[in-house]
Amino acid sequence: MTRTPSQTLRTPLFAGITLIFLTAIPTAPACAASAAGVDLTGIDQAVKPGDDFFAYANGAWLKATPIPADRSAWGAGEIVAELTRKRTAELIQAAAQTAAPQSDASKIGTYYAAYMDESAIESAGLKPLQPGLDRIAAIADRTALAQALGATLRADVDVLNSTNLHTENLFGLWVAQDLSDPTRYSPFLLQGGLVMPDRDFYLNPSQKMADIRRQYQAHIAKVLTLAQLPEATARAARIFELERRIAEAHWSRQDSEQVLKGNNHWTRADFAQRAPGLDWKGYFAAAGLGQQEQFVVWQPSAVTGISALSASESLETWKDWLRFHLLEHDSAYLPKAFVAEHFDFHGHILSGTPEIAPRWKRAVDETNDALGEAVGKLYVQRYFPPDEKARAEAMVKNLLAAFAVRIDRLEWMAPQTRTRAKAKLAALKVGVGYPDHWRSFAGLQVRAGDAFGNAERSERFELEHALKKLGTPVNRSEWAMQPQEVNAVNLPAMNAINFPAAILQPPFFDPARPVLMDYGAIGAVIGHEISHSFDDQGALFDASGRLQNWWTPADFAHFQAAGKRLAEQFDAYRPFPDIHVNGEQTLSENIADVAGLSDAYDAWRLTLNGKPPTGADGFSADQMFFLSFAQSWRQKVREPALRQRIVTDGHAPDQYRADTVRNLDAWYAAFDVKPGAKLYLAPAERVRVW
Ligand SMILES: [Zn+2]
Repeated sequence: MTRTPSQTLRTPLFAGITLIFLTAIPTAPACAASAAGVDLTGIDQAVKPGDDFFAYANGAWLKATPIPADRSAWGAGEIVAELTRKRTAELIQAAAQTAAPQSDASKIGTYYAAYMDESAIESAGLKPLQPGLDRIAAIADRTALAQALGATLRADVDVLNSTNLHTENLFGLWVAQDLSDPTRYSPFLLQGGLVMPDRDFYLNPSQKMADIRRQYQAHIAKVLTLAQLPEATARAARIFELERRIAEAHWSRQDSEQVLKGNNHWTRADFAQRAPGLDWKGYFAAAGLGQQEQFVVWQPSAVTGISALSASESLETWKDWLRFHLLEHDSAYLPKAFVAEHFDFHGHILSGTPEIAPRWKRAVDETNDALGEAVGKLYVQRYFPPDEKARAEAMVKNLLAAFAVRIDRLEWMAPQTRTRAKAKLAALKVGVGYPDHWRSFAGLQVRAGDAFGNAERSERFELEHALKKLGTPVNRSEWAMQPQEVNAVNLPAMNAINFPAAILQPPFFDPARPVLMDYGAIGAVIGHEISHSFDDQGALFDASGRLQNWWTPADFAHFQAAGKRLAEQFDAYRPFPDIHVNGEQTLSENIADVAGLSDAYDAWRLTLNGKPPTGADGFSADQMFFLSFAQSWRQKVREPALRQRIVTDGHAPDQYRADTVRNLDAWYAAFDVKPGAKLYLAPAERVRVW
């Protein structure tokens, strides 16, 4: 079903890349690079590198490049994602022709084809929804309400890996390694119930947010009207008011990112005691968790508040809330009018995207959501040859070696912490390209001509896959990303990193250019992910993934002081006069960017074995390294989407990520940046964490 655009916020490299409605056909590579890999035509010579490095490296490209009409953002990552999507579509369509019946490959072909069959979806109308609507209509008391709410639980959130904290269902479920006992899985329960991306959208008093709220209420009413429900406006007002109250109970993004605040173990019996209101027995039974004794409740006061609302708000309002959420959740598989209305609010109003993506692109995204690893298996067979995997693995090895040297050189770190850091580095499990073991989709029924049913069954299959983990040994080789995703991720509790095949492409990784360009781009990404194992959050997890702080208080104090300076650096960035980047909310990611770029620079230098590096295109080698970095972060974002990201994203906007360079001494030397330049930081102000 339409997964809410994943708010990949903390550890993944990018947020937004995996949004549902992205894209345009790639006719040109990500940049018109020279043989040495520098996009010379993208540079704006009118900008001084020391004043705005992002604009210097990308200014001409920014001026010349429109954001495609079906996209909210466009840049290096999106362009690679677009190419990958096109290739993936071809693979899926070919699989439909050639794969053995009922094989995983055949399922992806069938899934895609059913989604593409718009006339079948149109003529089915609301029929596929009828059983769901009938079940809601039959709810006669609070026990039945709890059961209906429990039946909506899906494995749709993830606190630490892809960091998707949003679900429009009442609660979200993440089954993962227990943070206090890494030998077993636990079910993590997260706050939910809101359609809009964050509590701020319901509660922030600014005029912008008030306008969005008004448009959201109109959207609810339109969806109810399309479903032929009478008195839509009055019902929409009540649904909105219920969500507003849920939002009041919600934790902020910043609080929800605090692992120590979130790791709360509750027994089954605790729920009635600590969160009275909801009939928890009925809820858990319907959710498939009737036998589960131990839970982790990530935002306890939110669960308490939401549970209370389930008892205090009228049954009719809850039934309307369920109806609207059902329609909203399934809109991608409903007739055109629903799809258009969903896009109008989520794509147009919330993200500023003028046009919906062509159906084939949405079909690829939906197929990836349902059968991601089956698609990924075909993708790597075709596009990620073993020598590319070997080349990337060798690079990771160099980054790890350089990181070990950096740990040895840290003056502020206590010897015992240093020893533990080295042990953790040695235990880090690095996955390059694709997982060691492919997941099977045996048991998932995919039927021709039944797009809606396929989506429903795939969500259930995903939930059951998650529930089956409970009580089994933890599988450390499982990936948190698909090979065809243009992204990278650190899995803190697994002490593992995934670099999917799709990010190992130009302009991030390219055998055709000098290797120093790779270090400036994908090298900084690899270093970024490695460093997450050792940042403020990584410090909380030991080598086995147990939530156990392995730093001394003095180590922490140093780290926090450095972090404070970096937070101030980012707080000062203002994309619009009325809003600035939240330095605290984006701190871990910004630290990882500084660490990753520093690590990449060292790792590249190590490959030279003392020989002087050579430049090209009139640039020194160091200049090329930093240009590669800044050009890999090129991106344009529409204003509404950028505003949304600043509220909900753990990453700073890409333009400011490119300016990370101002913390490295080598950048000052490379571009002769002197006091007075806008990005200039005195040596003592430059943040060095690792
Ligand atoms: Zn990160």
